[in-house]
Amino acid sequence: MMAHSYDVIVVGAGNAAFCAAHAAREAGARVVMLERAPEAESGGNSRFTAGAIRFAYDGVEDLRALMPDLTDDEVATTDFGRYTEDQFFEDMARLTQYRADPDLVDILVRRSLQTMKWLRAQGLRFAPMYGRQAFKIAGRFKFWGGLTVEVSGGGPGLVARHTEIARSRGTEIRYGTRATGLLHDGIEVSGVRYRCGSELGELRAPAVVLACGGFEANAEMRTRYLGPGWELAKVRGTRFNTGDGIAMALEVGAMPYGNWSGCHAVGWDRNAPEFGDLAVGDGFQKHSYQFGIMINARGERFVDEGADLRNYTYAQYGHEVLKQPQQFAWQVFDGKVLHLLRDEYRIRQVTRARADTLEELAGRLEGVDPKRFLETVRAFNGAVQTGVPFDPNVKDGRGTAGIAPPKSNWANPLDTPPFEGYQVTCGITFTFGGLRIDGHARVLDTDLQPIPGLYAAGELVGGLFYFNYPGGTGLMSGSVFGRLAGTSAARAAVGR
Ligand SMILES: Cc1cc2nc3c(=O)[nH]c(=O)nc-3n(C[C@H](O)[C@H](O)[C@H](O)COP(=O)(O)OP(=O)(O)OC[C@H]3O[C@@H](n4cnc5c(N)ncnc54)[C@H](O)[C@@H]3O)c2cc1C
Repeated sequence: MMAHSYDVIVVGAGNAAFCAAHAAREAGARVVMLERAPEAESGGNSRFTAGAIRFAYDGVEDLRALMPDLTDDEVATTDFGRYTEDQFFEDMARLTQYRADPDLVDILVRRSLQTMKWLRAQGLRFAPMYGRQAFKIAGRFKFWGGLTVEVSGGGPGLVARHTEIARSRGTEIRYGTRATGLLHDGIEVSGVRYRCGSELGELRAPAVVLACGGFEANAEMRTRYLGPGWELAKVRGTRFNTGDGIAMALEVGAMPYGNWSGCHAVGWDRNAPEFGDLAVGDGFQKHSYQFGIMINARGERFVDEGADLRNYTYAQYGHEVLKQPQQFAWQVFDGKVLHLLRDEYRIRQVTRARADTLEELAGRLEGVDPKRFLETVRAFNGAVQTGVPFDPNVKDGRGTAGIAPPKSNWANPLDTPPFEGYQVTCGITFTFGGLRIDGHARVLDTDLQPIPGLYAAGELVGGLFYFNYPGGTGLMSGSVFGRLAGTSAARAAVGR
């Protein structure tokens, strides 16, 4: 048998890749990571996140195990609630219209808490997500939407810590090195081809873990698979996820799986750059639309802004914005709710209009029919069921009557100055279609047999998300399946 310098090659250096690398090291493998980006831009979409991570927990004691520095005061003044495995499973099923692969979802959900403990044991630290996932009502914070914890330091902190951990354990990271194909003899995978600047090479190892993202940053693939118009979306995160891993696996006979015409896409500043900007991170998103209304160029509403808690609608509403004339919308709020808007509404790079009257605002919403906008607001204001109390922490049922589309929760008449509008377009986060894996994160071929030597984790795994997505699941999916892929790859490689 040929002697190799490495047992496991991990392609990528985002969260899924690091989880695979740490797990493979733990299982005794010699690991090398190939990262296409230069170090300054490394870390994939994981680095752009807020670090919000979804997992099942049974109450505050589970949270204390992850965050032992939670103070008694925090516990006393916060309702952390619980988010059971059944709730997580049900959210995955409901949001994906019961299409998600139940075996993959089962692994994701049942291993979510233990994977959080594993991440902590690796050296990551966590904090409660007060700023984004809890509102203070009558002196007490209440978490909502099953999303309670963030990684300390957000996405940049996550990637920095992962990198330190990898280096401290002797995992080599080669930046600026793009995997371009798999070494495959028709039966098994035995390494990768790569390009590093003007150097072309081959790297051999008995196991390869693909963790190099979806095809969201590839305009041609977006248009081909998601459909016409998707070339016009902005990319929220890294410019390096152009579908390489998916393409190289399909080339050796991997089975495509999941929602190839689906993706996660949100309302994103109309004037944001083509790809994500690490200095702004996720700040171009505008995720407080549930407290106002969304208006298109015709001056009309086009979605139920309050259909569900934000975590359960935001990943779909980018699609709705993309479908509007000229692919934009204005989110409009009045003075009563401005204090509820997330921090991202106060960044310097924001496309905002502000006025003391609705008539003035109508003239400032660039691209919008002002007359129709005012008619829409009047009809909306008249339809709000003001007898129902407003409560941002729960689906309060304060809806509208007699207008289409309705607003089902958190409806308030727009009647209190100042009035503010924020212009958004569609920002794509990641694609849902990808490769088919089994319960050991082995990549399956089109006969549904494992391809020896090939494993996958993270965005490029298909079968988990269809149509929609519960916020915070991307990092958990990368963590659970990354860890699994790393362990499986190391066991197969080291045990040879
Ligand atoms: C703005 C934004 C905010 C988000 N917020 C959250 C959040 O708060 N919580 C959450 O759970 N999810 C969030 N997500 C989604 C989340 O980022 C992803 O689901 C998750 O990070 C994907 O991890 P990954 O490791 O699979 O991919 P990535 O982190 O994207 O890593 C892919 C890696 O592969 C590398 N690569 C690509 N091609 C090659 C190649 N040919 N050779 C070598 N390397 C290659 C890339 O450079 C990158 O390092 C957010 C995404 C964005 C864009």
